[in-house]
Amino acid sequence: MSKRKELVATAQRMATLGLTPGMSGNVSVRTKHGFLVTPSGLPYDELRPSDLVELAFDGAILSGDRTPSSEWQLHRDLLAARPEVHAIVHTHSLFCTSIACLREPIPAVHYMVVLAQSDSIPCADYATFGSAELAANAVRALGPGHACLLANHGMVALGASLPAALKLALEVETLASQYWHARAVGTPHVLPADELARVRERFATYGQQPPRS
Ligand code: 13P
Ligand code: ZN
Repeated sequence: MSKRKELVATAQRMATLGLTPGMSGNVSVRTKHGFLVTPSGLPYDELRPSDLVELAFDGAILSGDRTPSSEWQLHRDLLAARPEVHAIVHTHSLFCTSIACLREPIPAVHYMVVLAQSDSIPCADYATFGSAELAANAVRALGPGHACLLANHGMVALGASLPAALKLALEVETLASQYWHARAVGTPHVLPADELARVRERFATYGQQPPRS
């Protein structure tokens, strides 16, 4: 599948999973000369491969007639700062956004937090949507991690591929929901760093391993 088709499929899947109310959210993938990003304010069910915009890292439009996502700088800055990252999913999913409105991180209340390559999901400082400041805040909050909240806004998930970034966005939304529900009825226990280290070790051999030769 071409990168354009794969990006459209990912954006539409993100929408059908209910992660992006209305036309919120956006998706990008690294290309040879820059990155492809979803257009601004276009309904996901109408999205076609030709609607995607390819940008260079200096912000120049390489191809596409549409206006790129208002968050193109967020995608650009994250892809520039993180060479191992090839795809980015930004959502306004319900539970991530609700916690982002508290301007708090999601602590390690479930071991699945390790999938984000960090011991908690940090919350980036508030800045207006579509601003260079928001992009800088997200880069800073993420550090080497793969997911963060955006204060009073939503969340960002990074991946080595489009499916990986979307999968992580869904995992982090599930974690946010679990945290929200636990906090609604009590004080959740937070897993300590040494336990998260054991979880990471266990994940290294979890699931189906390649057949031994
Ligand atoms: P775009 O439609 O411009 O991508 O904006 C959606 C959004 O989520 C802004 O933060
Ligand atoms: Zn947004």
